[in-house]
Amino acid sequence: GYDEEQECDYLFKTVMIGDSAVGKSNLLSRFSRNEFRVDSKPTIGVEFAYRDVRVGDKLIKAQIWDTAGQERFRAITSSYYRGALGALVVYDISRRATFDNVEKWLDELRGFSSADMVIVLVGNKCDVGRQLREVSEEEARSLAEAEDLSFVETSARDNLNVDSAFLEMIAKIHLRNT
Ligand code: GDP
Ligand code: MG
Repeated sequence: GYDEEQECDYLFKTVMIGDSAVGKSNLLSRFSRNEFRVDSKPTIGVEFAYRDVRVGDKLIKAQIWDTAGQERFRAITSSYYRGALGALVVYDISRRATFDNVEKWLDELRGFSSADMVIVLVGNKCDVGRQLREVSEEEARSLAEAEDLSFVETSARDNLNVDSAFLEMIAKIHLRNT
């Protein structure tokens, strides 16, 4: 039908960053294909995925880049960031070190991209029990406020807030760039 054939009004490049094993690839597969994997396959990442999103009367093609494990060696190259209008900076709420590294990811991101890039801080694995949580929502929210980021906790496993995280980023990109 015509809907499938409809052409997009905009193409937005966006990127996923954050420490290894925080759930970046699973967030992306949830958002783009509604899939989740229990086994981690860090080196077999796709380069990017697409999803079409309607914002008002515009059809936006979101192109979302994922690392193929380079984050493990801090070896993400400038071409990964080039032209990106938005980023999800992901940490794992059950691994404190991944939150402590968020500042480093923000520095790298800001070094490579334009100042008006839309950044969403994402605390993934919010499905884990209270006893496994190592980062409180309040603490992450105050970092997000200080750094002028949006913030959301997600579970790729249970499909909680995954769409909201991506859609928040895409809607803000639309506001800033059109
Ligand atoms: P990446 O290295 O950041 O791309 O992380 P992956 O998407 O490969 O996920 C790393 C591991 O965390 C895998 O074993 C996933 O099954 C697991 N994982 C990812 N998202 C979640 C989540 O929301 N909840 C839980 N409990 N585990 C998750
Ligand atoms: Mg991955």
